[in-house]
Amino acid sequence: MMVNICGIPHKIIEMDDNFDMDLHFGQIDYKKCEIRINNSLPFKARYEALCHEIIHGILVHLGFNELAQDEHLVQALGNAINQSFDISFCYKNLEKMED
Ligand SMILES: [Zn+2]
Repeated sequence: MMVNICGIPHKIIEMDDNFDMDLHFGQIDYKKCEIRINNSLPFKARYEALCHEIIHGILVHLGFNELAQDEHLVQALGNAINQSFDISFCYKNLEKMED
């Protein structure tokens, strides 16, 4: 699974809950161009987490590094994207796993 963030392909990786998931449902690695999502989350929560991490990436690639660290802003924009657009193509294969 890939997503283009400002024209740069980022790999979406689902992984076990082995990083700080109390506050973070996902992570973005700017250098590796990877987004990691907690695979134990329900599908819709993974989808929301993906939108959140994409917003982090967009802000960084646009040079808004300080804004990218504002989790409240990132979460708000991520929710807006999640509720406004269908980016399920990023999760095409995973949708089949949903009940
Ligand atoms: Zn965040």
